[in-house]
Amino acid sequence: MARYCGSVCRLCRRENQKLFLKGDRCYTEKCAFERRGYPPGQHGQGRIKFSEYGLQLREKQKIKRIYGLQETQFRNTFENAENMKGVTGSNFISLLERRLDNVAYRSGFANSRNEARQLVRHGHLTINGKRVNIPSFLVKKGDVVEVTKTSQEVARIRGALEAVKRREVPQWLELDAAQCTSRIRDLPSREDVTAPMEERLVVELYSK
Ligand code: SF4
Repeated sequence: MARYCGSVCRLCRRENQKLFLKGDRCYTEKCAFERRGYPPGQHGQGRIKFSEYGLQLREKQKIKRIYGLQETQFRNTFENAENMKGVTGSNFISLLERRLDNVAYRSGFANSRNEARQLVRHGHLTINGKRVNIPSFLVKKGDVVEVTKTSQEVARIRGALEAVKRREVPQWLELDAAQCTSRIRDLPSREDVTAPMEERLVVELYSK
């Protein structure tokens, strides 16, 4: 599958916001956005006035980059949200949050969603005792995500669990750091996601 291989800090600068894509480094003074908090490129420091379409596009790109998805996957998730009962925007965010790579990141098994995706791909996680290596797998209420016994001593995973104290584990997850397990207490609702996102703009953009 295609994936973005360029500088991820550039993405934060483009979206004019810290997207926390690099794990530990994002919390230090080495963060590129802290040092150069303006869009990249020759005209980055000039005044930028967005049209309505521009605002919608930037918001869509920002959310897509936060979750590390490519356009097709992002769009498919949106279409699934549209086919669900309820508010499309909230369903959309809930579906993004329920992805296994996101759950691994939120639980603190990895420092970034990129790292979490690699954990899943390399078979370090199980759901209800069964190994799952699909990052887009959607968790359900009551599922238990666990780091496999052999992977529990991996220094990177242990280090990430230490670092999770810096960010909060959301209420809908019940983390047992000693056992390296995370239980899905409830499905995530829109209110559980505190990162600034205006999914309304994505709905408007895709409804054109
Ligand atoms: Fe974004 Fe993290 Fe890079 Fe800072 S260090 S610009 S938050 S990815």
